[in-house]
Amino acid sequence: MTCVLVTGGAGYIGSHTCKALAEAGYNPVVVDNLSLGHADAVKWGPLEVGDIRNSVFLNKVIAKYSPEVVMHFAASSNVGESVNDPTKYYSNNILGSLSLLEAVRQNEIGSFILSSTCAVYGIPTCLPILENAPRNPISPYGATKLAVEHALADYGNAYGLKWAAMRYFNAAGADLNGELGERHEPETHVIPLAIQAALSHRPIFNVNGRDYQTPDGSAIRDYVHVADIADAHVRAVNYLRAGGESAAFNLGTGIGTSVLEILDAVQRRTGRRIDIRFQPRRPGDPASLYAAAGRAAELLDWHPQYRDIDTIVGSAVSWFRHNLAA
Ligand code: UDP
Repeated sequence: MTCVLVTGGAGYIGSHTCKALAEAGYNPVVVDNLSLGHADAVKWGPLEVGDIRNSVFLNKVIAKYSPEVVMHFAASSNVGESVNDPTKYYSNNILGSLSLLEAVRQNEIGSFILSSTCAVYGIPTCLPILENAPRNPISPYGATKLAVEHALADYGNAYGLKWAAMRYFNAAGADLNGELGERHEPETHVIPLAIQAALSHRPIFNVNGRDYQTPDGSAIRDYVHVADIADAHVRAVNYLRAGGESAAFNLGTGIGTSVLEILDAVQRRTGRRIDIRFQPRRPGDPASLYAAAGRAAELLDWHPQYRDIDTIVGSAVSWFRHNLAA
């Protein structure tokens, strides 16, 4: 069985991807320091607990499993936090990735798939966003992910590493069989916060900005189901193993949904009213972000299956009700 080393495989997107990898016949070996991830989300292969900045640890794990591909999710990924604590982001995201890349190079692993982000684009100059749009990140989070993308390209040129950088838009939803879901502490993402407000786990939902140049004044994002993101990663493994060219891929549905539309969907799916309060825009939040994902369609034959916002929100509500609402 081909082994894929999955850093951050105990986290939200990483764990869903491990399930998809196992279903596709791969053996996902998770490396996670469990600082944010959950050991009980690692169900489809072994878990090796440790930090990717520890090269002795990494080399041991690689010697034990001989992975053919590395998939790298382990990172800090909160835009607001990155502005206030850039040290953490430069250390976890850049030093961590470099340590991993060095282990990959020394152990002659041929393929690397990076969890990247639409935050590499910053404020878009045109919509929908294409992969070759200008990359001017406006947060340390986006800057660190872009730096790792540059490192991948340089490792590709110098050492022949094959890579894919997966630029997610807004990952959302939960496993449709209820086996996995989104658990962040503290929670900062719009859909889980709205569900918590609807189910009375928080008193109120704060809408960040009502004066954007959008039809209802709230910010628009491209919400893409986590199972579709996981599927794209499996396709990227197959693509690189079949000799595909290294590339960056936008992962989004191309559909923009506003914060107020998310709240409507959560109210529909829970049958509960959400108390909302409008507050000023969150610093660094663009008005609208949505993807042109034609490259993933063309090269990976990736076509997101769960594009409807009610399906995305419904899967998250269901996960929340079964796992967190007690
Ligand atoms: N948002 C909001 N209230 C919240 C959390 C988020 O209005 O309590 C907005 C946020 O400002 C952004 C959108 O919802 O416009 C998506 O934010 P999220 O943090 O989920 O993802 P991001 O786009 O930052 O990756």
